[in-house]
Amino acid sequence: MAELLGDYPSLLNSFIEAGYTTRFFSDPISRSHQLLLRHDIDFDCHLAEKLAEIEHEFGLKATYFFLVSSDSYNLLSSKNASSLGRIRNMGHNIGLHFDPTRHKDTESGLKKEIAIMEDNFDLKIDIISLHRPSETYIGNDQPIAGYDHTYRSEFVKKIAYYSDSGGSFKFGHPLDSCEFHQRKSMQLLTHPIWWTLKGYSAQEVMENHITNNHKALQLHISKNCKSYHPKA
Ligand SMILES: [Zn+2]
Repeated sequence: MAELLGDYPSLLNSFIEAGYTTRFFSDPISRSHQLLLRHDIDFDCHLAEKLAEIEHEFGLKATYFFLVSSDSYNLLSSKNASSLGRIRNMGHNIGLHFDPTRHKDTESGLKKEIAIMEDNFDLKIDIISLHRPSETYIGNDQPIAGYDHTYRSEFVKKIAYYSDSGGSFKFGHPLDSCEFHQRKSMQLLTHPIWWTLKGYSAQEVMENHITNNHKALQLHISKNCKSYHPKA
């Protein structure tokens, strides 16, 4: 949706030209010139891989947060597991994108989801991000079941924080911000879908995503059910 947000390589290039370097959430963060690149993967793992490749070409590192209990995608499918593996092999960090509303008990739900990721991908989760977090989590320094999270004050209050949630930068474009002009450190949350699919609006991007998913589901069913034949 470059029409609204700009294109992703240009965005990264602006940060590089301004002297920014990327950090992970577990790194010490200074007040200036550091960029925490974060991606919450709400809809499509393959689109995440596309952003990871762009960052890799620029020599930048990001943290990719995946859902494990969403209807959007199955992280354990061979296609999605491969995407996660390739993203990791490029040197990016992997975190859990956690939806607390999926569980009666937040702490035990979180531990179960972390175990699924760690057991299946042989990795150690050191950071989680919350999917559509309630206000109580924003700027809250308490770890959740012992796990650090991206809404801690150090990441959203002590440094600048910009997000493209819903397909737009609701609080202004980060490159137009006074924090960027002063080269202040920043957490930048972007969702791959807004930067990789065509569309002049969020509605159009999502319609394209649904069409693509529909075709993929047809193909999958035709391969697994001999009595189904997709309509031309
Ligand atoms: Zn999310």
